[in-house]
Amino acid sequence: MTVELSSLVQGVVASYGESAASVMIQSIVARLYEQQLGNDEGAVADYIPELGKVDPDQFGIAVALETGELITAGDAANEFTIQSVSKALTLAILLDLVGRAETYRAVGVQPSGDPFNSITLDPRTNRPFNPMVNAGAIAIAGRLRENLGPSAFEQVLVRMSEAAGRELRVDQNVFESERDTGHRNRAIGHLLRAAEVFTVPVDEVLDLYFRQCSVLVTATDLAVMGATLANIGANPLTRREVFGMETVRETLSVMFTCGMYDGAGDWACQVGLPAKSGVGGGIMGVVNRQLGIGVLSPRLDPAGNSVRGKLCCIGLAEELGLHAFDSTNSGSNFLRGMGDFN
Ligand code: GLU
Repeated sequence: MTVELSSLVQGVVASYGESAASVMIQSIVARLYEQQLGNDEGAVADYIPELGKVDPDQFGIAVALETGELITAGDAANEFTIQSVSKALTLAILLDLVGRAETYRAVGVQPSGDPFNSITLDPRTNRPFNPMVNAGAIAIAGRLRENLGPSAFEQVLVRMSEAAGRELRVDQNVFESERDTGHRNRAIGHLLRAAEVFTVPVDEVLDLYFRQCSVLVTATDLAVMGATLANIGANPLTRREVFGMETVRETLSVMFTCGMYDGAGDWACQVGLPAKSGVGGGIMGVVNRQLGIGVLSPRLDPAGNSVRGKLCCIGLAEELGLHAFDSTNSGSNFLRGMGDFN
């Protein structure tokens, strides 16, 4: 049995040797992979034909540690479109570019309770509720297009690639399919333009948004991106600074409250980690200062989150005590340093 389990794990690439943590995580990841392999609950997103064509059985798990160690199982090297996971990254890119105050002139940080693609603005502010719903992500894309000009997408792709630690590219078929059928997103774009959330042409903003959703990533890429956020913005493989410290805190807060569609509250209770999912079946999770998690499994639950991806994250959180409010996690290192809290 042990041999079978370890054969499921594709490998551990350890930049600094194989730590005790990585060995332990390797065996848990292998076990979770085996437990969930036969689970075929949920349904693949098919709002565009391109997504309906993906192999629903793909299943990959990756964990990237802050040390640069990488643990993978199954189809962790399979490429799929990042979809809404990109929303966390474009938020971070805009925060770095224009700062908090300017970013929140375009979008709020309130969970909405509405479906992710609803054509609504927060009535109090006339702005989208948060950057993780389509309206919020399109508002962010609008501000990126305004600030970065015609090469906005190329610049976004460079930052996403830096977070992944490798050069990423767009799935042209998915992009064209999103663009040709994205009437609802275009309607949101016009609503935002009318509310003067951005002033550049709607089609240019939507072009950026559809491209960012169509970037191809692997579960390993999502784990490394998550680890980059965990590592206060520095990619643990390349050691390159990708995001600023304040940006990371802000992004993780929004992911924690709004990252998992209408399942964000359940996720906060069951997993207790900042995370973002996408309809391609990817989930990116973050354990602050320690590691990033990436999962690919295209079958989604009714909230739009990967069924096996969520179960793997619940398993990892339970076995490793990752939940933000786990009894083993203690609050402020600053206070502990004063000696009064043990
Ligand atoms: N491109 C998709 C859309 O805008 C993203 C969906 C998602 O992953 O939530 O509808």
